Amino acid sequence: MQIERISENVYWFQSEIYAQVTAGVVVGTHWAIVIDTLAMPEETLEMRRYVEEELNIPVRYIINTHHHADHSWGNCFFPGAYVFAHDRCRAEMASSGIKALEATAEHDQQFKQTKLVLPHFTFSKGNLELQVGKKNLKLMATPGHSFDSISVFIDEDRILFAGDAVLPVPFIADGDINQMRQSLYLINNLSLENLIQGHGEVILRGEVQEIIESNLTYLDKIESIVKEVKQNRQPIEALKKHTIETCGKSRIFLNGVAEELHQSNLRTLYHLL
Ligand SMILES: [Zn+2]
Repeated sequence: MQIERISENVYWFQSEIYAQVTAGVVVGTHWAIVIDTLAMPEETLEMRRYVEEELNIPVRYIINTHHHADHSWGNCFFPGAYVFAHDRCRAEMASSGIKALEATAEHDQQFKQTKLVLPHFTFSKGNLELQVGKKNLKLMATPGHSFDSISVFIDEDRILFAGDAVLPVPFIADGDINQMRQSLYLINNLSLENLIQGHGEVILRGEVQEIIESNLTYLDKIESIVKEVKQNRQPIEALKKHTIETCGKSRIFLNGVAEELHQSNLRTLYHLL
């Protein structure tokens, strides 16, 4: 696991096991708040040990940027911590998450100890603001990757933990392409010092605009490909030849899952358009 101090009292964690998934911690006066958990229990536990033993502060709160397993299933490894999320995140975890965890734990021993902890505090409109030590955290809706996606903006540092709203290759998992565009516009207007993607590297100030524009260009490209395939009444298989490179992104992103995500985007749009 990689650990980096991004700013005073703000830390970033990145998995070396699962798709470069990231998480964060903001340290307050008497407690710390975790932004997302990591995919594998052992890495979430390593993150907790770092906060509690190296930084010497207990974790009292967690923010889940969305309901996906690789960001929220580690909640249970912070016993007694209260969880914040969008209200649709809670609903999704309650409806599909419990069954998904049961199915995963059946064939993967690592998840035998995992229990789903549903968010305790949720919001559905506007922003939710939290004071952590001297820092003001603003939780804002940034849907598109999923309907429940939120980002965490740290006002004083101009750092944004964007969850999966920003990825090296945009991924419309259970969200919407136009909502993703709107979220990217919103993020681009924040004048960020650091943009933390849900997977991948930390993006620095000078690169933020370029990455956002690259993601917007990619969305336009996949939309036009799918429209053309449908106009020509071609079957869904016709999408396969439109590889990620033809849409301006590289397949080496995210330890090789990039092409898979890209093909999934094309199929999702084919069904939606
Ligand atoms: Zn996700």
